[in-house]
Amino acid sequence: MIPSNADLDFDAIIIGAGISGIYQLYKLRESGFNVRVFERGTDVGGTWYWNRYPGARFDSESYSYGYSFSQELLDEWDWSERFASQPEILRYLQYVADKFDIRKDVQFSSDVKSATYDEDTRSWEVGLADGSTYRSRFLITGVGILSQPTLPKIEGIESFSGQSFHTSRWPHSPVDFSDKRVGVIGTGATGIQTIQEVAKNVGHLTVFQLRPEWSAPLHNSKIEPDEMDAIRAGYDELFEHCTRTAAGFIHDVDPRNTFDVSEEERYEFWERLYASPGFGIWQGNFKDILTNPRANRAISDFIADKIRGRVNDPATAEKLIPKDHGFGTKRVPLETGYFESYNQDNVELIDISETPIQRITEVGVLTSEKEFEFDFIIYATGFDAIFGSYNRIDIRGVKGHSLKEQWEKELATFLGIQTNGYPNMFMIIGPHALAGNNPRSIEYQVNWVTELIRHMNELGLTRAEASVVAQDEWHDYVVEQGKDLLRNEVDSWQTGVNINLDGRQKRIVGMYSGGQPSYRRRCEEVARSGYRELNLK
Ligand code: NAP
Repeated sequence: MIPSNADLDFDAIIIGAGISGIYQLYKLRESGFNVRVFERGTDVGGTWYWNRYPGARFDSESYSYGYSFSQELLDEWDWSERFASQPEILRYLQYVADKFDIRKDVQFSSDVKSATYDEDTRSWEVGLADGSTYRSRFLITGVGILSQPTLPKIEGIESFSGQSFHTSRWPHSPVDFSDKRVGVIGTGATGIQTIQEVAKNVGHLTVFQLRPEWSAPLHNSKIEPDEMDAIRAGYDELFEHCTRTAAGFIHDVDPRNTFDVSEEERYEFWERLYASPGFGIWQGNFKDILTNPRANRAISDFIADKIRGRVNDPATAEKLIPKDHGFGTKRVPLETGYFESYNQDNVELIDISETPIQRITEVGVLTSEKEFEFDFIIYATGFDAIFGSYNRIDIRGVKGHSLKEQWEKELATFLGIQTNGYPNMFMIIGPHALAGNNPRSIEYQVNWVTELIRHMNELGLTRAEASVVAQDEWHDYVVEQGKDLLRNEVDSWQTGVNINLDGRQKRIVGMYSGGQPSYRRRCEEVARSGYRELNLK
């Protein structure tokens, strides 16, 4: 006999108290459900709790990133910068948690190790690292796509006698690098933010770069009170606008093709974008730069010339220009003085594609050329993205099948929210869901999942599982949408490639790319049909 929700510990268990978990808890509680969040950190914040490295900040405009669900919150919160820094973002999320009394239903320092579906009771049993277990009808993962850090597979990491940190496991108290010798491994978005900040006050900084990434200026600025008033007055329009753009950012792609316009007009447009704040150069560019190799080559050449113009030493400039992928085919790191850091006498760039790292030693880093001595080593080496946040939990669905093993064979979900074989488990920004400017996608998906749970509750239904057909169709749609995107031809976390994990070299289409409007349309169709594809029982 299937127990009622009241016979279980909770109606729903949420994993993670980041942006997804906070809002999912708020929404379900508002609808009268009994919910518990398990969070491995000691406070709310998720990504913004963990990533405390120097220079961490938004790459989306602050006011486009915050929650939109509460008018009071929008009225009360002032952003101080166009692209807020991590401490301000964390303060914001803590403010949200205080305002909506979020913490009373969050159990912190609680690492979820397993989640097992039981068909007889149509419920999930969630196991924590301390051995305790809890049962709920629904399991909702708010674990993000970039939350499981990866250290490089380099021998000797544990032998280093100085201090070392992965950027997303940064100490909670400030680290002073002045007069210190610092080595940074990794030059992705995180590395770039870290390097440009550490370079401001360091004894000597050595950057170990495998492959450079394209990067463009952030152009951050303070938000004055009258500007904040104007932003506040325009919030409705702004959030509405973000539902119409491809990835939920404020930037509209330009409807023209690169070669529709004269060379003069093209360069004038690109100069304007390069001088503008944020992702305009990436998301607001000509519509074909991310699909047409010739157009992509042209914008890449434009950005390469900018790098040459900013780095004094021509050999260093060439090293900083990517050769293996075009501009915008990875999420573009936004920088502030990153390239100029290399003009400092105390900053050096080591190209480890030429002189590979052989091992970490007691005193520093040994390359094929020499040994570098450091007080600190910073690993900005990224994440076991997309899969890692799920794989670290032993998730078992119908008949004990493992989600990890299933996704190793093929990554497939329905709307990025459900997976066949894992009834009543819902993912917020799961694989193949809408992502980009994540809070915009998160709010949408949380609302959708909440409506589904309310619907089931009203009808006394206790089981939802995406059909194989629906899942296959979504998988094929995601692959089809991504077919012409140059992004899917490049090795990166977005295509599931991670050199630091055994066996993760097979390139996949890891991300949905069909845009906000078509994602929302499909979700709404499913809801309107009474969630036919989820075989409600
Ligand atoms: P990432 O893009 O995966 O970059 C990792 C870096 O480490 C790359 O330069 C990589 O080199 C290098 N690396 C990895 N393993 C290595 C090894 N064994 N030896 C030497 N180098 C190694 O990770 P990330 O920089 O943390 O960024 C991930 C994503 O997080 C971004 O794309 C973005 O979506 C998000 N993010 C956002 C912000 C923001 O502004 N809001 C800030 C930071 C990150 P290769 O590329 O050559 O493999």
